[in-house]
Amino acid sequence: MIEISNLSKNYGELCVLKNISKTINKGDIVAIIGPSGSGKSTFLRCLNLLETPSEGSIKIGGADITDKKTDINKIRQKVSMVFQHFNLFANKNVLQNLTLAPVKAEIYTPEKAKEKAMELLRKVGLESKAEAFPHKLSGGQKQRIAIARSLAMNPDVILFDEPTSALDPEMIGEVLALMKEVAKEGITMLVVTHEMGFARNVANRIFFMDGGNILVDDTPKNVFENPQNPRLKDFLNKILNH
Ligand code: ADP
Ligand code: MG
Repeated sequence: MIEISNLSKNYGELCVLKNISKTINKGDIVAIIGPSGSGKSTFLRCLNLLETPSEGSIKIGGADITDKKTDINKIRQKVSMVFQHFNLFANKNVLQNLTLAPVKAEIYTPEKAKEKAMELLRKVGLESKAEAFPHKLSGGQKQRIAIARSLAMNPDVILFDEPTSALDPEMIGEVLALMKEVAKEGITMLVVTHEMGFARNVANRIFFMDGGNILVDDTPKNVFENPQNPRLKDFLNKILNH
């Protein structure tokens, strides 16, 4: 599904991603963990070209997205993203938030997009909010809408960058529950998260990043029950004991 070869990203002198090579399979649920500043967001953002890789190639479904001729919009339909701060269109209601991109990309007619949007709102339990504007929603509701919006594009891959980090504690569960449901449907997911419960119970693979490298790529069982890498051990000690 995704083949990353020798990916590097520099900001001037600063080398943020260092020669990363990885294959991600269809249906993989990858939890990406690691300290702040280790390159997690940059890695995710390279996968849908929100950041331009400095070196290396990324193939998604066989197509090289780093090729200059690739249509970025086509890539973003197939690889959608859910952000920490939701990034809903503030001046559009919920239904418009869900239908805008699929109609613009001509994935669906306006009627079909609306039908699909209502179906997704039922799925995320927010059918009654179709006409509401984002400022009327709680953080948890906003993030569930953002997830519905990303599903509305019928993506092959969804990238989540700390989707619960901006939420009040009581709203984290509802968003994680929805993500767990999406994971069951076989969509490939890469999730940067501090929610170790999700990483342990929902992901099939954990990437531990540190200093621009993926130092560990292993099963949740090995990562949480028998971590070998000293920096991973140190990281887990810090976050599990605070
Ligand atoms: P993480 O998501 O793991 O916290 P990031 O990918 O956001 O890490 O950042 C990795 C490093 O790259 C940090 O040192 C950060 O300051 C730097 N960085 C990120 N974006 C930029 C940018 N646009 N310009 C310069 N430096 C950046
Ligand atoms: Mg980040």
